[in-house]
Amino acid sequence: MQQKPMSLIEFQRKFATEKACQEHLFRLRWPDGYQCPRCHHEHAYFHRTRHLYQCKACGYQASLTAGTIFHRTRTPLRKWFWMIFLVGRQKSGISMCSLQRMLEIKTYKTVWVMGHKIRKAMADRDAHYKLAGLIEMDDAYFGASKPGKRGRGASGKAKVVVAVQTLEDKAGFVKMEAVATLSARQIHEMAQEVLRENVVVRTDGWVAYRVLNSDHSTHEPVVVGDGSDAVKLFPWVHTLIANIKGNIRGVYHGVSGKHLQRYLAEYCYRFNRRFWESQMFDRILTACIGTRTVSYSELRQ
Ligand SMILES: [Zn+2]
Repeated sequence: MQQKPMSLIEFQRKFATEKACQEHLFRLRWPDGYQCPRCHHEHAYFHRTRHLYQCKACGYQASLTAGTIFHRTRTPLRKWFWMIFLVGRQKSGISMCSLQRMLEIKTYKTVWVMGHKIRKAMADRDAHYKLAGLIEMDDAYFGASKPGKRGRGASGKAKVVVAVQTLEDKAGFVKMEAVATLSARQIHEMAQEVLRENVVVRTDGWVAYRVLNSDHSTHEPVVVGDGSDAVKLFPWVHTLIANIKGNIRGVYHGVSGKHLQRYLAEYCYRFNRRFWESQMFDRILTACIGTRTVSYSELRQ
């Protein structure tokens, strides 16, 4: 039976102190007890003042947060935990300005970096999985239109390719990639990254999609008349595109092209785990433990 997700009150009670957060992090990181990251020995001294574990076999010193996105953070774990909980909980996403106010984080830069670190962890985690079976694929355009060409030739808009696994009348996993151009080369690269072998990919008749007919996949182009046809033929892709466009307009008030990929990743991560809502917090936290931290300058690239 699906467990109910934790209420805010329960969450507040459970993670009321730094110690409670540290203990939870420890249990997720080392479920079978501490293990030296270097030699895998299971016994260590704990230096209380420096918060370090020192391996009894090789002397290696490790902290609870080393090698995770929380490494060297000056923000209390309690605030990180709340942020992860709220990001996982809010289906339409949550703005960094609201989080900054709710969690009493001093500067916008701090909350911005935290948000992107969490999103990167979510993206890294989802990168482990590829789509299989029957896939619907289509592209969408984000951002304000500029005068000139419309649709696929439009300039100044971010292009996003969306791929959804279709299971009878349900949607399975989804992947979204921001691409520079909607060329055969980009579609081929994305297919290699996100699709398993022997998939069937249904798209409209756009020429670049022909590259999907290969040794690894079968391409099923569908003739699309007007817009309403496309919605009927690719229902999932269009529902998801409409949702994420609404979120970006409503919650984030637009997203710069550079950071679009991370917002897409956050959305896909939550969508892909929508049936495990009660586990969302621990799942994102585990992703944050398993991802090396990135610096502010790396995030700005
Ligand atoms: Zn060791």
